Amino acid sequence: MRIILLGAPGAGKGTQAAVISKKLGTPHIATGDLFRAALGQGTDLGNKAKAYMDKGELVPDDITVAMVLERIALDDAQTGYILDGFPRTVNQGVALDQALEKNGESIDMAILVDVSDAELVKRLSGRSICRTCQTPYHSVNNPPKETGVCDLDGGELYQRDDDKAETVINRLQVYSNETAPLIQFFESQSKLVRINGEQDISVVEKQLLDIIETK
Ligand code: ADP
Ligand code: AMP
Ligand code: ZN
Repeated sequence: MRIILLGAPGAGKGTQAAVISKKLGTPHIATGDLFRAALGQGTDLGNKAKAYMDKGELVPDDITVAMVLERIALDDAQTGYILDGFPRTVNQGVALDQALEKNGESIDMAILVDVSDAELVKRLSGRSICRTCQTPYHSVNNPPKETGVCDLDGGELYQRDDDKAETVINRLQVYSNETAPLIQFFESQSKLVRINGEQDISVVEKQLLDIIETK
């Protein structure tokens, strides 16, 4: 199944994508994770993306789309995937549809994880992620067993620079201007499913799995 998780920064897409990915046995493809990994490796792609990420702006569509198309062409993505953080503009959505169409494929559903701005700010300010596997934690809502250490691989947890208050405000604005129009885009394709992302992590997880299993 090809699933898109749509939602503002901090909505819980990464948290939930990890669960669905495990359940369906399909990869979790997060464009933010791919950019951060490229940056960590000092590649051209990472260096190009850095200036945009630091400001909370979107990386240009051509760079982002090329990176995603390359990723979904890999063997492990042939039976499906969960896209997290992509598409983030209507142009990206159109480019993805066109590329899939060429192979007779299409997106099965776009799930909007809906969370208010006030809650998003609280989530992002308390978030830390693993330096090794990028799993997100939250100091109050979803703390690791041992402070500062990833439960999964013992990696060091750190706060993303772009989760600091100055950048968060811009990222929420960018979401509302550039990404929110995708809600209408997927609605017009009858692919949009909404979920209340303000519920407990386990409740959101259950509802998501129900939606996917009844598809
Ligand atoms: P996104 O991938 O959409 O940016 P994350 O999955 O990284 O969001 O979640 C953002 C923060 O909110 C993390 O610190 C995470 O632990 C926390 N979080 C995720 N889902 C919930 C939830 N349902 N309730 C409370 N906190 C949550
Ligand atoms: P995220 O980890 O999803 O919060 O993404 C972190 C940053 O990576 C964003 O603020 C953007 O700068 C960049 N990014 C991630 N996904 C995309 C995308 N689909 N289009 C453009 N930029 C993106
Ligand atoms: Zn880890």
